Formats: sequence, structure tokens, C-alpha cells
Amino acid sequence: MSQNILTPRYVSKTKRRVILMTENLQKWDVIIIGGGIAGLTASVILSKANKKVLILEKAKQIGGRATTIEKAGGLLNLGPHAIYPNGPGVKILEELNIKLNGGSPVSKGTLLYENKTYPLTLSPVALLTSKLLKWKEKREFIKLVSGLNKINTKFIQNISLYDWVEAHIIEEKVKKLFYMLCRLSSYCNDPKRSSAGIIIEQVKLGLTGVRYLDGGWQTLVDQLKQQALSHGVTIKENHHIIELLGTHPNITLIDSLDVTFTTEHVISTSTPANTLSMIKSEQMSSTLKQYRDLCIPVKGAFWDIVLKKTTNLNVKFALGLDEPLYYSNQSAVANLVTEPNLHIIHLGKYLSTDEKLDPKKNHKQLKNFLSVIEPDWEKEVVFQRFLPSLTVCNAMPSTNMPKINTEISEIPGLYVAGDWVTTNGLLADASITSAKAAADAILEEASSLTYTG
Ligand SMILES: Cc1cc2nc3c(=O)[nH]c(=O)nc-3n(C[C@H](O)[C@H](O)[C@H](O)COP(=O)(O)OP(=O)(O)OC[C@H]3O[C@@H](n4cnc5c(N)ncnc54)[C@H](O)[C@@H]3O)c2cc1C
Repeated sequence: MSQNILTPRYVSKTKRRVILMTENLQKWDVIIIGGGIAGLTASVILSKANKKVLILEKAKQIGGRATTIEKAGGLLNLGPHAIYPNGPGVKILEELNIKLNGGSPVSKGTLLYENKTYPLTLSPVALLTSKLLKWKEKREFIKLVSGLNKINTKFIQNISLYDWVEAHIIEEKVKKLFYMLCRLSSYCNDPKRSSAGIIIEQVKLGLTGVRYLDGGWQTLVDQLKQQALSHGVTIKENHHIIELLGTHPNITLIDSLDVTFTTEHVISTSTPANTLSMIKSEQMSSTLKQYRDLCIPVKGAFWDIVLKKTTNLNVKFALGLDEPLYYSNQSAVANLVTEPNLHIIHLGKYLSTDEKLDPKKNHKQLKNFLSVIEPDWEKEVVFQRFLPSLTVCNAMPSTNMPKINTEISEIPGLYVAGDWVTTNGLLADASITSAKAAADAILEEASSLTYTG
């Protein structure tokens, strides 16, 4: 009998791998690589349908980028996090009975332009009195924002945001204001690469409101985890999967300590590059290779702070017009402190794709920004952390992005989910919708097998 090149035996022979431990005694219906929002969502859907599900997470604890830490009486998400209540992800979470309590940021804020502050509002009446814009700029901006819902974004998916703006906006300051709105709702700061259609759709969604969650995004993680456990999901932390062998119904996963797991299906919620690195067979990895090569991560520099008090309580939200900067006092509207009177401040710089990373410069820029809003901030800090380069989203919605499906056709039984999979929506919406799509595809396959007997 010819040796199947994808069996672990062959690998152990060729690579002289010593399988130190094996957890093969148990065969799972589905193993999910990664215990972030995507992995947890998929696990709840599958376990509710009576599938035997195992989540393998490489970190010490699950949660991924939705983790919230508690520091000095404050609850800090990993950078500023807001849920889109009208997005496709929330619908799925609500179907799973996940509660998303919290508060929405006020529509009024502060705008920084050429080192001066201006009131930031999208209300046409307030805009008319703004000193920032001249009359014709006001007219153009109001027309632009009020006409956004009429734009059929399906037809401008392959047009860059830059080209769209150049073709539709005349006034330079209005262009800047529009780019600012695009950054705010999508985190993308690359108008020449990003898709006008997808970004404008996200701006429309953002304008319907966002919500900061009471207790931070950890409440989302904790609720999903509770549901997963109550439906029998097994969660194992500290397992870094490095290799995937075989296809449905005999897939073997191997972790960095040579522990093996066997399963019928796998959902990888890791990055495209990391998922690709698990597949050692050249012939089987061309789709993943294409995804890895085309996915450009969206990155930002973030500064999370707990302040004893704010001297400028009026400013709860601020944006840079000529610099890609963000400020928000999230505790002003959401319950994020375990000790009274503290303030949870998130600052961020939207990094552009080709920007050379300069953490010192970026931190200084953020400090200057904060000093304009809160001149005495240094005296009030009880905790701070600067995160120079975080991946907000694994794939910028670019003009040349292919449709990324959850099923990897060359490897039957392997599915992918995460914010780089183009099911529906951006950011966490993409993670949640792709997780559901992957889980549904597995359930559908199982039901069609049952039906045909
Ligand atoms: C600063 C910042 C701000 C953001 N703001 C928003 C926002 O306002 N709104 C919004 O909707 N989204 C926002 N996001 C994005 C949102 O956090 C993510 O889209 C979402 O949390 C991703 O969930 P996920 O499960 O797809 O991926 P992740 O959270 O990255 O989870 C993947 C998990 O897989 C694990 N893993 C990876 N590889 C392996 C392996 N080989 N073996 C085992 N485990 C592995 C990782 O450790 C991780 O826990 C923000 C992100 C950041 C960083």
C-alpha cells in the first residue's frame, strides 16, 4: 500500500519528529484554531448543533484582540473598541443571546486643525456656525454627508477611495473632513489602495452610531465563552498549532510541543500567513498563498491611559483633521471603571501602509495631541501603555482584494474565519459573519451527508 504523504507517520519519518504526547484518543468533529471573537462565535453555533468542538488557543487565555485588562481601577480594551449596533455582527451575537450593553459617544467633539481646536459635529445646523469652514465648504460638506445614503457602493468597489474623492469633492478641506470620517469608521489610512465602495459603506454604518461596551469587550468574550462551555465546548489554552496534515475526515493538527489532535474539520481563525505556514504541502496551499499575498494589514499606534481626573470634561471625543489622530474618553459613556472618578482614555494614530514605523515620533505626536485637550494629563496618569503597532484588521478592504471564502477548496475540511475573510462587514463584523459562515458550511455538509445516507 502506498504511503499517504499527508499522514503524521510519514512526517515523523522524514523529519524525525518525535511525537512526545498524543491527544488522539479523542476525535473531534471540529477543532477551532484561535479563541478570539471568531473562534468563540463559531464554537457556540457548532456546539448548539451538537458538534464535538475543541478550541485550541496559543495564548495563556482566550479573547484575542477583544481582550480587556483591568489596571489601576480601569478596564482597558486593546485600543479603542466600539461595536456597530447596526452591523451584521451584532445581529448574529443577538441571535446567540449575547448582551451588548454600553453607551454611545456623543456626536459633538473637538477637531484639531493646524494646532487649533474647533467644535466637531456632523449636525448641519452646528456646521453652519463652524469657523472651520467657509460657506462653499460648508455647502459641499453638508451635501456630501446628506447624500451618502444615495450612493450605490456596489458599483464603486474597484475604485480607490482617492479616485472617488478626487472625482466627487472639490474643496480641499472637505476632502480632509471626509478622509477623517473614513479613518474613523474603518481605521484605514490608505486612500489610494482602499476600496471607495467598502469604505463608504462603513462610513454610512458608522454614521448610524457606535457603542462602547460596559465592562469592555471582555464581556463579549466572557459571554461567548460561557455559552460555549455550557454547550460542551472544550477550550485548551497554551496550544500553538504549527502544522495541519490530511483532509476531511482525517485531519491532524500538531502544536509547537508536538502534541497532536485529530478532527474531521478545522476552522482556522489565525492570520492568512500563519494559516498558510501550517500547510507544508505546496500543491495544497495556492489559495491561502494568494490570500496571504493580497491581504494588507490595517495598523495603528495606540496609547491607552487611566487618568485620575480630566480637567477638560467637555471634550469626550476628538479627531485630527490634518493628522490621522483619535482621542476618546470612553468612560464618559460606558461603565469602564471599578473605582470612582477615573477616566479611560484611548488615543490612536491611524498608520498608513507605507509609513516607516517610528514609535518615538508617533508617541510624541499623540502626547502633543493629548496636551491640547488635557494640558495637565501628566499629573493625572495612574496607568498608561503605548502600543506602537497593532494590527486592527488583517485585511484592508483594497480595490484588488479577491472574494475570500471560508472554505479552502484544496483542503476539504479546512475553513477560515476572521476579519480578513470577506463574508460581510469589516473589523469584528467580518470576524463574526465569517465565523457563522464557516460553522454553517460545516453543519450544512453534515446534514447533506445525513440526508443522502
Ligand atoms: C486597536 C484595535 C482597535 C479595534 N477597534 C475595533 C472597533 O472599534 N470595532 C470593531 O468592530 N473592531 C475593532 N477592532 C478589531 C477587532 O478587535 C477584531 O476584528 C476582532 O477582535 C478579531 O477577532 P478574531 O477572533 O477574528 O481574531 P483575534 O482576536 O486575533 O483572535 C485570533 C486568536 O487566534 C489565536 N491564534 C492565532 N494563531 C494561532 C495558532 N497557530 N494556534 C493557536 N492559536 C492561534 C490568537 O492568539 C488569537 O487569540 C480593533 C482591533 C484593534 C487591535
